[in-house]
Amino acid sequence: MLSNLVASLLNSCPVFEQHCQLCGQRPTASGICASCEATLPQLAIPHCPQCAASAGSSLVPCGHCLRQRPAFDVLYAAYGYDYPLDGLIGACKYGGQAALQGVLSALMPQLLANRSDPAAVDLIIPVPLAAGRLHERGFNLPDALARTVAATIGARFDHGLCVRKRNTAQQASLSRGERLQNVRDAFSVKRRCDGLCIAIVDDVATTGATLDAVATALKKAGTRRVEAWVLARASDHKI
Ligand SMILES: [Zn+2]
Ligand SMILES: [Zn+2]
Repeated sequence: MLSNLVASLLNSCPVFEQHCQLCGQRPTASGICASCEATLPQLAIPHCPQCAASAGSSLVPCGHCLRQRPAFDVLYAAYGYDYPLDGLIGACKYGGQAALQGVLSALMPQLLANRSDPAAVDLIIPVPLAAGRLHERGFNLPDALARTVAATIGARFDHGLCVRKRNTAQQASLSRGERLQNVRDAFSVKRRCDGLCIAIVDDVATTGATLDAVATALKKAGTRRVEAWVLARASDHKI
């Protein structure tokens, strides 16, 4: 009989077929069958050309971006943050289902199809967890997502470039204003990045505050262009 650890490793490995995580029926290599993948939440249309939140037009930035431009140049998302993807992400991050990392990572290439800008990316990095929380959880979902998307396009992956200097409160429990304050100056970049184009990968963007804080640190280190790449984008800014 397989131990739970071996079973979870097999489930996260795309070589082995498993039952669909959503309908529980058809065997699938990626963890979500084609029928269920077709029903995953799409990005709002139209959406802001900079932060990808639901907006009145896809041609002009939304009110939030006009009032205060995010430090990242553009945000691309694979899907909208809605049922059933929100449940899968929550089960992975907060429910201890580490094996779902493989299932969620397999969905990241959809982001590349949504990315209208073909500019080359020099480096792909995950939004880092603070060391304490990483120890507690045992994994960082953005790390797995970033590795997969980097391997898909043959770009360099670097999970050590940016570090979280302090343990911040869980963003999910905070209001928009609190989120901005919570992550301000929370990140530092370990070396100069002059002239580079860097993509930061996170699982969910809600206010974009975390991605904005990482992008601010990268720009201070000389990064020419910062793209935010997320698996799921909430359609509205959390107010
Ligand atoms: Zn299914
Ligand atoms: Zn916007």
